[in-house]
Amino acid sequence: MLDVTQSLRNIKPGDPMQETDVLVIGGGSIGVSSAYYLHKAGLGVTLVEQGEICAGSSHGNAGLIVPSHSIPLATPGAVKNGLKWMFDPESPFYIKPQLDWTFIKWLWQFRAASKAHKMHRAIPLIRDLSLQSLSLFEEINQMGSLDFDYQQKGLLLLYHDQHGLEEGCEEAQLLNKYGLETAIYTPDEVADLLPGITCSVVGGIHFIQDAHISPGKYVRNLSDYIAHEGVDVRPHTEVLGFDRSNGRINVVHTTRGPFKAKEIVLAAGSWSPVLSRMLDVTLPIQPGKGYSITVNRPSDWPEIPMVLSEAKVGVTPMGDTLRFAGTLELAGFDLSVNMRRVDAIMKAIPRYLPDIQINDQDILEIWRGLRPCSPDGLPFLGRSSGYQNLVVAAGHAMIGVSLGPVTGKIVADLITGQSLDIDISALAVGRFGS
Ligand SMILES: Cc1cc2nc3c(=O)[nH]c(=O)nc-3n(C[C@H](O)[C@H](O)[C@H](O)COP(=O)(O)OP(=O)(O)OC[C@H]3O[C@@H](n4cnc5c(N)ncnc54)[C@H](O)[C@@H]3O)c2cc1C
Repeated sequence: MLDVTQSLRNIKPGDPMQETDVLVIGGGSIGVSSAYYLHKAGLGVTLVEQGEICAGSSHGNAGLIVPSHSIPLATPGAVKNGLKWMFDPESPFYIKPQLDWTFIKWLWQFRAASKAHKMHRAIPLIRDLSLQSLSLFEEINQMGSLDFDYQQKGLLLLYHDQHGLEEGCEEAQLLNKYGLETAIYTPDEVADLLPGITCSVVGGIHFIQDAHISPGKYVRNLSDYIAHEGVDVRPHTEVLGFDRSNGRINVVHTTRGPFKAKEIVLAAGSWSPVLSRMLDVTLPIQPGKGYSITVNRPSDWPEIPMVLSEAKVGVTPMGDTLRFAGTLELAGFDLSVNMRRVDAIMKAIPRYLPDIQINDQDILEIWRGLRPCSPDGLPFLGRSSGYQNLVVAAGHAMIGVSLGPVTGKIVADLITGQSLDIDISALAVGRFGS
């Protein structure tokens, strides 16, 4: 985040009021996708982003478009697994003990959400949102004017041990029941799918419908496209506060002057609760830090993305680069790079892909980002009951790239009063209390 004192210095007294139909706050996957669909619906749109476009979690993630991830983070086994991993500094999941009431409450809400019946209610909703988003990605890709390395090759989960494979098969069967297409492969079949790569695995599961993209290219190129089409895209414009009265937000104050908007969309990812608190709107979102390492893509590397399942590391080809991504640290707004976690990702690779050697000189970027995690693994999407002109679109956790287009489309439909073809009442902004 920008230094607030520095930001306040940028406000010039008497800055003229700027007016727009819709002001979108946040230039990540969710904000830019929302601005795209709002503009498409014929509205005047301004998007403000505190840093560069795609400065947040949408830049260095694994870029997977994943109907396969329709099981939310909060599952019956999640708390037990979390506790098991907590004390291992190289584990894929870590909770930093914090004496922060908001955080303790979030953990409690997560525990309460980790029930079988809640998980079964969430799966069809996430599936429908994911499949619709996938179609919208295809539509955007087919426009031909945006390059974001879209490929639909499915997602191959690799398993190193039998127990992991058995758990994976159970999940695959569950998702099968909900209509998602899967195939279970022997090690030889995995080898056929990955010619030229040696794999040390006991089997694999292929989610056929999944796709992948270069997420940074998607967000930046879509942002350039909408700016060219007439959306007012303002990087380096940080929202500092709001004037409100009678259930309306009247003015949004930014480091580049005040804005008046008929509608406001809050799409500030992990930072959304910082802003919603100023409006007395409760959004239980915790930042979930993850890391990625991007390298030059080895020659002949296949186009199919993989997950090294027990290690929870995604391996995604993105144009001429290859990205390894993983870990989830609940440690507040701590953006430091913990090299032990980065090393844990690197160490996992040869366990599954023994011929792969990554040397320091191959690394193009080490990145970390904050996933905006809600307690039940579902985003907050809808109008806020306290305001007539506030739509919240935040808290997409592990699937905010995947759900970018469908979220943007729903935001536009809500604002233009169109009927929705997916029931989003389970995503209500006030579902954890106001
Ligand atoms: C390691 C890792 C791997 C991942 N892999 C995947 C994957 O394969 N598939 C998938 O779908 N998802 C994945 N995710 C999750 C995904 O990255 C997030 O869900 C998604 O990026 C969230 O998008 P967003 O637009 O809500 O947030 P962000 O991209 O964080 O955007 C929010 C923006 O709001 C801006 N902002 C904040 N405060 C203000 C303010 N006051 N004024 C103006 N602007 C402000 C921020 O600067 C930021 O740019 C992964 C995440 C990580 C960390």
